[in-house]
Amino acid sequence: MIFEMTERECRDLLGRTSLGRLACSQDNQPYVIPIYFAFDFDYAYSVSTLGQKIEWMRANPKVCVEVDEIADRSDWRSVVVLGTYQELTEPQYADERSHARSLLEKRSLWWQNALGERQLKSETELIQTTFFRIHVDSMTGLRATAESR
Ligand SMILES: Cc1cc2nc3c(=O)[nH]c(=O)nc-3n(C[C@H](O)[C@H](O)[C@H](O)COP(=O)(O)OP(=O)(O)OC[C@H]3O[C@@H](n4cnc5c(N)ncnc54)[C@H](O)[C@@H]3O)c2cc1C
Repeated sequence: MIFEMTERECRDLLGRTSLGRLACSQDNQPYVIPIYFAFDFDYAYSVSTLGQKIEWMRANPKVCVEVDEIADRSDWRSVVVLGTYQELTEPQYADERSHARSLLEKRSLWWQNALGERQLKSETELIQTTFFRIHVDSMTGLRATAESR
């Protein structure tokens, strides 16, 4: 059985998961990558190094985020968020940036995936990072269960 999730159920899932898939696009070409987020009210906060996804989201801020919990083929939940990219630049977004940092810091080694991947490609020790958030414009959720309601 597959059910639509309520908004409350969607928000609960967004609140307890941290890994999502972020999709952006440019010139009719979609691009999806795994990334850690911290959801808080109507925003998903994250930190990133500068690369293709940031360049693309700057050019086209309309994005999609998918998160899920999959126990097995008949027991899963998935939420799809349509949203808008916003870069937390200083000094304009200093408060939001520090809020993002405090949310992300709750997860140990929160910076590791963003920086680790870049170190692989970069020859310099100095790696620029940026905080950003995705405003949740709309969301839908589906859950599957082996039992009937
Ligand atoms: C579990 C997990 C958590 C992560 N969390 C974060 C995070 O919080 N913040 C963050 O910035 N990054 C995170 N990453 C890394 C992220 O998925 C990207 O690899 C990274 O951010 C670089 O993206 P970019 O668009 O800047 O790529 P660029 O460095 O500009 O790369 C260009 C090309 O490299 C290839 N590429 C890039 N990333 C990947 C990938 N993941 N898999 C396969 N090919 C790829 C693509 O073909 C792309 O066109 C995480 C990865 C994993 C697996």
